[in-house]
Amino acid sequence: MSLLDVQHIAKQYASVEGAPLEILTDASLALDAGENLAIVGPSGSGKSTLLAILGTLDNPTSGTVTLDGVDPFRLDEAALAKFRSEQIGFVFQDHHLLPQCTVLENVLVPFLADGSAGNSQIAAAESLLKRVGLSDRTLHRPAQLSGGEKQRVAIARALVREPTLLLADEPTGNLDQATAAEILKLLIKLQEERHAQGRPAIMVVVTHSEALAAGLQRRAVLQGGCLNLAKEDC
Ligand code: ADP
Repeated sequence: MSLLDVQHIAKQYASVEGAPLEILTDASLALDAGENLAIVGPSGSGKSTLLAILGTLDNPTSGTVTLDGVDPFRLDEAALAKFRSEQIGFVFQDHHLLPQCTVLENVLVPFLADGSAGNSQIAAAESLLKRVGLSDRTLHRPAQLSGGEKQRVAIARALVREPTLLLADEPTGNLDQATAAEILKLLIKLQEERHAQGRPAIMVVVTHSEALAAGLQRRAVLQGGCLNLAKEDC
């Protein structure tokens, strides 16, 4: 079984009008450590819905997700929250940084689930801020940063717990072309570094940008609720 194994995910939402809305009908993919994937598809095709299911933020109606041998949807609520915070990192189109907190404090937010952050967590956050090129901005607030810098902080925050799976939903959607290319390069470089250090690292990026998709190793199209890595048009 692959490190990330997604089999026949379907997702329906109840509709007040009657028949349920079928958003995903059959989405399957499998990725191993060091692999990355772009999911492309028209707006409204269910890309964010699929990413939310991979991130365990939403349940599938049917189908299975297994990450590092664990089916998160079989865990109870507390175990699922722990699994999500340890195994999955998220980068969104909007950085979702806390405006009142410094850059360093923002990167430490994922540790708050376990209580306060100690010296080793602070060292991990500082080391990541150095890797994303922001070691001289740790005490600044998000309002003092450019869009690209804010997204670098969001990337550091997503990676600070060394998640197995990094999920990014239109991570460069709010950035100009040059900054978007830089952010993509950074995401790929950080994944390569983690892989080279023997850490299991998978990245899945949802995007409507063909340029961004072309930078990743694999590309899959979500269309008509269907996604299959083996076939681009299913
Ligand atoms: P994409 O990311 O490809 O643009 P989304 O996953 O955001 O697509 O949305 C896919 C479809 O699912 C859209 O038609 C959207 O309106 C619908 N949808 C998303 N969330 C819900 C929900 N909670 N209830 C009902 N419909 C939803």
